Amino acid sequence: MSGSKARMAAINAINNQKLEVAPLDFSEVSVDEIFGQNVFNNKVMKDKLPKPVFKSLMKTIEEKTSLDPDVADVVAAAMKDWAISKGATHYTHVFYPLTGSTAEKHDSFVSPDGKGGAIVEFSGKTLIQGEPDASSFPNGGLRETFEARGYTLWDVTSPAYIMENTNGTTLCIPTMFISWTGEALDKKTPVLRSMQALNAQSQRILKLFGEESGAFVSASAGPEQEYFLVDRNFYYARPDLLNAERTLFGAKPPKGQEFDDHYFGAIPSRVLAYMLEVERELFKLGIPVKTRHNEVAPGQFEIAPVYESANIATDHQQLVMVTLKAVAKKHGMECLLHEKPFAGINGSGKHLNWSLGNGVVGNLLDPGDTPHANTRFLVFCAAVIRAVHLHGGLLRAAAASASNDHRLGANEAPPAILSVYLGDQLNDVFEQIKAGGAKSSKKASTIKLGVDTLPAIPKDAGDRNRTSPFAFTGNRFEFRAVGSTHSIGGALTTLNTIVAESLDYIATKLEKMVGNSPAKLNDAVTKVLSEVVKEHEAIIFNGDNYSEAWHQEAAKRGLPNLKTTVDAVPEITKKQTVAMFKKYKVLSPEELESRQHTYLEQYCLTISVEGKLTSRIGRTQIFPAAIRYQSELAKTCADLKAVGYKFDTDTLDTVTTYVKELQDSLSALDKAMAGKKGSTPLAEAKYFRDKVIPAMLAVREVADKLEGVVADDLWPLPTYQEMLFIK
Ligand code: ADP
Ligand code: MG
Repeated sequence: MSGSKARMAAINAINNQKLEVAPLDFSEVSVDEIFGQNVFNNKVMKDKLPKPVFKSLMKTIEEKTSLDPDVADVVAAAMKDWAISKGATHYTHVFYPLTGSTAEKHDSFVSPDGKGGAIVEFSGKTLIQGEPDASSFPNGGLRETFEARGYTLWDVTSPAYIMENTNGTTLCIPTMFISWTGEALDKKTPVLRSMQALNAQSQRILKLFGEESGAFVSASAGPEQEYFLVDRNFYYARPDLLNAERTLFGAKPPKGQEFDDHYFGAIPSRVLAYMLEVERELFKLGIPVKTRHNEVAPGQFEIAPVYESANIATDHQQLVMVTLKAVAKKHGMECLLHEKPFAGINGSGKHLNWSLGNGVVGNLLDPGDTPHANTRFLVFCAAVIRAVHLHGGLLRAAAASASNDHRLGANEAPPAILSVYLGDQLNDVFEQIKAGGAKSSKKASTIKLGVDTLPAIPKDAGDRNRTSPFAFTGNRFEFRAVGSTHSIGGALTTLNTIVAESLDYIATKLEKMVGNSPAKLNDAVTKVLSEVVKEHEAIIFNGDNYSEAWHQEAAKRGLPNLKTTVDAVPEITKKQTVAMFKKYKVLSPEELESRQHTYLEQYCLTISVEGKLTSRIGRTQIFPAAIRYQSELAKTCADLKAVGYKFDTDTLDTVTTYVKELQDSLSALDKAMAGKKGSTPLAEAKYFRDKVIPAMLAVREVADKLEGVVADDLWPLPTYQEMLFIK
């Protein structure tokens, strides 16, 4: 479809849209009935499983004890019956490869019985272990293709669920994905390992504070997902969106986001219908989505669930992405999860809210009203500060990808330099600690409104700082560098592990100082925390992270500024990183090596596809449009001249110059793409960054200039204006 036809079709679709789903009505369907209706959750298990089996399974889930194999058979049988009663014909082990996507392989419940008939079958063994043909998933050298064996292993702690689809319903079992030598090939396995490490070190601190219940201290995560919606007619008319999820061409529209009139504006009705269906589907899967709103850029939106245990939140986040995409198609739209679908307009991220705690001790990052007196909180908070200072580069690497480079390196939130925002109140408390002990906390005031009908409105103790990549936001830290396409698994694994390491460091010191006299704890904490603050205060920054002054200041403080994925990824195999991951048994040196390899490979693949697309679109769509217009202008000039008029050739001259530039830049790009790329993944990635990306940008620059002069009806691609504003 040409640009203008796509435009007409899109306008038609938008004007004739029908609301296909009735909105959820809680007066008709109770929340209880719909929430989690497709999940094999505790309630269902309690109902369907014999009591001892249920108890044993709960022990595994809550206390992370190893699973009794006899239990698996019983669970499998109950799971199968439940799934079939819900219409499932197949089951799948769902896993999360290093690409950040969700993978599944479906098997039927039906097996031949050997006598010409068939039986329905699902054993404990099939529940626990699967063997997908895994040779085409990235492994970064951990497996040779001839030994492609990989296993999926049931993650007992994340509930199985039913995926409904008009073409068949499937029982989905969340699993880990490992090589046959036991190395992790996925995003989930290290999350689980890192949660264990974080728990183990947290227990030592809690013990010092006299808390010995042993209840598992879990990391919690609440990811906010940003995304764009575009009409599918536009999407299909843009090979770049279709293949790379971002526009490789497109001039800035006359009206962009400068009015800020979209943010928190009224949600367009077509989008609202879409959001409602997304929420309904997610509710069925037991995913507690809570907020929805427009985002800063036109056509950009956000969805956020209530936070959950890190592992479950990670699985749920993947389901959120899958659901956002699937439901958009039904509504004639495409959901773009890419970090930067449109140049010059805000990109999308995934703010990852993170805390730790459990039912017994509560949220360990909750400062309460008097943080200066809440020593336990201060210990956990200081551990985070130390961790981010020591491993800022690694955290940056955990948010690295070719697509996210458009956000992190650019002049857009958040910068590639990691720093921690504490806010007024906490900053003051830590300043006091540094000077020898905290005696007071700044009080939160009330807001004076001048309107008499309202009671005094309490003010938060700290303001928000939207520019910080790692901000304390009341009772959690918010890591804002994660990309909108990313699995949150990588960031969580990193956060959990680096904080575990710092808790270990602090616990070791405190244990030595306190010995058998708990009365010494307060003084010991003051002393250790004072040291920690002195050593690591360079990471604390409460100002504007976008300012040039900060970039200079950060350099003076020795904070790394890893602008691109190519700069960041090598952090994964730095000596201190390898030693840490090994010590806490989260990732082995081989696993880290393979991850680094895979991420660099992904980077090269992404840019290689973008390079090819740029060349193809440039040559087969933009160049022809430009010369058609050029010839039209030339013909007009000649015709006018023939009848004796003088015709100004300015436009023709401009188009002719641009056409030449376009041809030259396309040749340069093709040459860069064909060049020798280096023999290691890192060298190859550097080549793509330094040679191919600039060549792509040069093509784009002149193509965008042409868009500004070529006749609109000849222009082959839907424009920014259309894609962003027609809803
Ligand atoms: P905002 O955009 O103002 O940051 P949102 O409501 O969009 O806030 O998102 C905040 C996210 O943080 C939600 O997913 C929420 O559940 C999560 N969250 C709140 N408290 C915690 C906590 N203690 N630990 C982890 N996540 C939390
Ligand atoms: Mg937020």
